[in-house]
This record gives sequence, structure tokens and C-alpha cells, in this order.
Amino acid sequence: MSHKILISDGLSQAGIDLLKAAGDVTVDPKIAPDALLAALPEFDALIVRSRTKVTTQVIAAGRKLKVIGRAGVGVDNIDVAAALTAGVTVVNSPLAATIAVAELTLGLMLDLARRTPAADAAMKRGKWEKSAFMGDELSGKTLGLIGFGRIGAEVARRARAFDMTIVAHDPYLSDGQIRDRGAEPASLEALLQWSDYVSMHLPLTEGTRNLFNVQRLGLMKKGARLLCLARGGVIDETALAAALDSAHLAGAALDVFAIEPPTAGSIAEHPKVIATPHIGAQTREGQDRAGLAIAEEVLAVLQGREPHFKVLAND
Ligand code: NAD
Repeated sequence: MSHKILISDGLSQAGIDLLKAAGDVTVDPKIAPDALLAALPEFDALIVRSRTKVTTQVIAAGRKLKVIGRAGVGVDNIDVAAALTAGVTVVNSPLAATIAVAELTLGLMLDLARRTPAADAAMKRGKWEKSAFMGDELSGKTLGLIGFGRIGAEVARRARAFDMTIVAHDPYLSDGQIRDRGAEPASLEALLQWSDYVSMHLPLTEGTRNLFNVQRLGLMKKGARLLCLARGGVIDETALAAALDSAHLAGAALDVFAIEPPTAGSIAEHPKVIATPHIGAQTREGQDRAGLAIAEEVLAVLQGREPHFKVLAND
């Protein structure tokens, strides 16, 4: 019997094709919450990105549901505990975004060093403000990476090509593992004091929420720059605005925000912030990989094989 699979968010054609070869696939990337509740009872699998909210109610409506697949990594939009209680397996595709996020991190670091977004905006206003745009070089600077997993390690590999010195803090890795991945291990405090650029590549958990508070921002080197392409909640945005206003920090690049989309007057509007709308994973190649990977994970569950990336909790 063919498995019935509902895709309720955008998914790459490569992923859809793989699923169609093995099941009966319905693609409805704009399905409204009510229509989703009405449709779900007949489906064995639900595949989402971040738009569809998979609440307790949605899970209860999926009477035949065996698996929920999240194309990408964050499962903030899925009530994982409710799914597991209902006997539904949750899978994601955490490897797909690594290169996309690492490349954007390097791009934003260069933008912070040379203020390219502001220079471009001035040109668009008809200005030729050459002397206003004296920049810095990345070469010879220290990059501090907080969280040295997949993305952190790929950022380090690319930053080495820019002749940066790399230090990393990751309490779940040994000093030897950090050195093997190409960085010098450091305590969080030392990293903040040494680094010209600090970039975060760690998950949002109760332990990392507001990790960048007044005190930790205060430990950063004067004139340093901060990047966050992880999750918004790791930075106290009010404290960051104050650190930028006082010129303690020279700039920040943020792809993620405590509230998305940010509300009026948020940190995204600060003149010293380069803001992007959570586009870290948004590359054609990354989305193709995410689509294929989640199709393989969902099919593994439906066909009784062990998936590679089971999600066991929301944190
Ligand atoms: P990963 O699991 O490979 O690496 C995360 C690392 O953070 C791990 O090595 C872990 O030990 C470390 N860590 C956990 N708690 C820490 C703490 N308190 N201090 C320092 N390190 C800590 O994950 P990844 O694939 O490298 O992704 C990193 C983060 O990037 C994810 O958590 C995700 O939220 C974010 N992300 C963002 C986008 C985007 O679109 N901007 C896309 C993908 C992932």
C-alpha cells in the first residue's frame, strides 16, 4: 500500500520527486491551519519547513500519522513532546544548511569590516563618500567562535583562508577536538576579551538564552564586532543596542532575532547592525540538500528503516 505524504510548506523539487517515487504525495505549501486539520486524518507523513505550526491539535488530527519531517534544523514550530507522546517520529535534516550558513557568516564579517551595505545605500542616494568608508582588514584579526559544531568548524575553515587567528569555546568538546577542527580552545571569558569578531554557532537552550547579556557584552574588546546566525534568543537585544550606542562595540550582524519578524524599533533597525531576515539556510543548494535529506529520512521511517536524524526534544 502506498504511503500518503502531505507537504505543507515549500520543498525542493528534488525532494518531492524522491517522495513521489515511493508514495502518494500532496503538495500544498500554502495550506491554511483549518484546511490542514481537515486534511490530515488520511496522511501517514507530514513534511514542513518553518511556516506550518505543528501544534498538539494538528498532531491529534493526524490519526494515521507516523512521521513528521522538518526540512531544515530548527523544530521551534513543532510540538515534539506531543508528537512523541502520540507515537509519531520527528525527523529533521541538520546537515543541509551548514555551508550556506558558514558562507553567509563570512560574507557578513566582510560587510562589517568594510561597511558595504552602508556604502551601497549611499551610492543609491547619489553620494560618493569615499573617505567615509575607511574599513578594516580581516587578516591578522582574531575570530572567536562560540559553539564549534558543524557550522562553527566550516566558518573556521573559511576564516583561515583570510589569515585570521581562530579561537573557539564549546563546553561539549575536548581541547583536542577543538584543535583538530582548527581552533585554539578558550574559556568564554578569554574568548570575549581576545576576539575582534565573535560569532555564535550554538543552539538556543535554557542555558544559552540571553548568553550575551550586559555583563558578557561588557567583556568584549572595545571596537569588536558581533555576529549571530544561530537563534535570536541568545542575545539580550536591549543590551546589544546599548553596547553599540556607547561605541563599546563597532557593529553587529544579525540573521536571527528574538521575535521574527522583528517589530518596529527593534535591534534590526539600529544603524550599526547589518540585518538579514533569517536567510542563513536560504541557498538553492542548501534547500535542495534539505529537501532530499528530509525525503530520505521520512521514507526511512515509513519503510521501517532507522532514520539518521530523529528529534527527541524541542531543545
Ligand atoms: P551543531 O549541533 O553541529 O553545533 C552546535 C555546537 O554548539 C555543538 O558543538 C555544541 O556542543 C555547542 N554548544 C552547545 N551549548 C553551548 C554553549 N553553552 N556554549 C558553547 N557551545 C555550545 O549545530 P550546527 O549545525 O553547527 O548549527 C549551529 C546553530 O546554527 C544551530 O543551533 C541553529 O540554531 C543555527 N542555524 C541557523 C540557521 C540560519 O538560518 N541562520 C540555519 C541552520 C542552523
